[in-house]
Amino acid sequence: MTARIGLIGLGTMGAMLALNIAEKGFPIAVWNRTTQVTRDFAAGAGELSSRIVPTESLEELVAAIAKPRAIILMVPAGPAVDQQIEALRPLLDPEDLIIDAGNANFHDTDRRAAAASGYRFLGMGVSGGEEGARHGPSIMGGGAREDWDRVAPVLEAISAKYEGIPCATHMGPGGAGHFVKAVHNGIEYADMQMIAEIYGVMRDGLSMKASAVGEVFSAWNAGPLQSYLVEISAAVAKAVDGEKPMLDVILDKAGQKGTGRWTVIEAQNLSSPIPVIEAAVMARNVSARLDERRRGEAEFGAAPMALPPGAVTVAQLEQAMIAGKILCYAQGFDLIVAAGHEFGWDLPLPAIARVWREGCIIRSSMLNDMATALAENPGRNLMLAPFFAAHLKASVPGLRSVVAAGVAHGLAMPALSQGLAWFDMMRTGRSTANMIQGQRDFFGAHGFERLDQPGTGLHGPWGGHMA
Ligand code: NDP
Repeated sequence: MTARIGLIGLGTMGAMLALNIAEKGFPIAVWNRTTQVTRDFAAGAGELSSRIVPTESLEELVAAIAKPRAIILMVPAGPAVDQQIEALRPLLDPEDLIIDAGNANFHDTDRRAAAASGYRFLGMGVSGGEEGARHGPSIMGGGAREDWDRVAPVLEAISAKYEGIPCATHMGPGGAGHFVKAVHNGIEYADMQMIAEIYGVMRDGLSMKASAVGEVFSAWNAGPLQSYLVEISAAVAKAVDGEKPMLDVILDKAGQKGTGRWTVIEAQNLSSPIPVIEAAVMARNVSARLDERRRGEAEFGAAPMALPPGAVTVAQLEQAMIAGKILCYAQGFDLIVAAGHEFGWDLPLPAIARVWREGCIIRSSMLNDMATALAENPGRNLMLAPFFAAHLKASVPGLRSVVAAGVAHGLAMPALSQGLAWFDMMRTGRSTANMIQGQRDFFGAHGFERLDQPGTGLHGPWGGHMA
């Protein structure tokens, strides 16, 4: 049997992706660094094994694939990808295509695309975890359009579908696909953090049991907040470990693989504010400082946290989540626009929202409305699109009440409060940056513009104090 495509790396994601590809009717050749993994995979593939070609050397893998070849790499991001490219390179023809489907930093993908010589190269963000990889992930491709078109039939077939439309799209050249995946992951961090903050208000502010929190999340999942993350948060909150709620015995120390951090670093490089995502990454870092937090509690005492009766309603919590989510996505899409300008990518905003509607971790019903709003309002920040502006006008008062109660009673809500601060800044025509400009001119003669006169590089009456 000649394989339509090849895959290297039969770990969590690669194994599931290979089964998905085989299930959709494409014969696939697979290779894994540890040969026993390949053997076990082939032996466990059941009826799909008729479309799986297990191979035990890269030479065997390459020989098993129809020309021009396409080979997916599903190995850890970083040196493993470069090692595999180096090992494959001498075995490939110029039209053969390597597809890096791991979570590469998009700068690495840009570098690898530019260095591709004697083979072709695509960088491809894949979201949806193990389950998505098996039954339909969201796929964000980057590289030459013609290379994408060559493998699109396979990628569209294996991807998630939203009302029959494949969640697999070519985003642009080089690292564009991995960049969009990084922003996806940043938003994922923020969505998760905002849910955790609201859980905290219910647990510590309203003294609700985990099961009751789960019921609230389940109810929200039938409304505007319908999303995979709210759905699994309900399941997590309702789960029990013997007599105890599972949540009550999980250590409050969150891990990360760093993709959220990449998004924040890139946003800083691009001067594109994404404070909700920044707060979410910060919160994970603070969570990891468990010993310091415990010492802090011993020194200062825990914040009171319990809210007086009626201080915050569950309806206000839902409004806070809705507002926070819109603000977070507005920032994320803004970052994508900034990257498009900086890197010369024509990133398709509505198509990005569409590709996130199914298969990926941040999938939600709101993304369909976002796709529509972005298509109908090109060039406009999502928060100013009429549909979402109306939603914000209705939901920001709830967000404000929740954040205010949190501030008053010591319930930390970094992501939600950063969302509110950004909203208030973005609706302020006359900010306080006139003071910043005055300070900069005072100590550094940086100059400013005036409201009442034309011209740039103007100075204040503090000449004697200038450095
Ligand atoms: P796993 O750790 O489960 O599997 C890693 C695979 O890569 C194994 O098959 C391993 O082979 C192989 N491998 C590791 N190092 C090398 C190397 N130096 N050379 C060749 N092969 C190597 O990882 P995942 O499947 O979870 O992740 C793979 C990629 O997908 C990563 O980039 C990850 O960030 C990304 N990703 C993961 C998601 C997830 O939910 N897990 C979701 C989306 C993307 P061996 O058996 O020999 O160790």
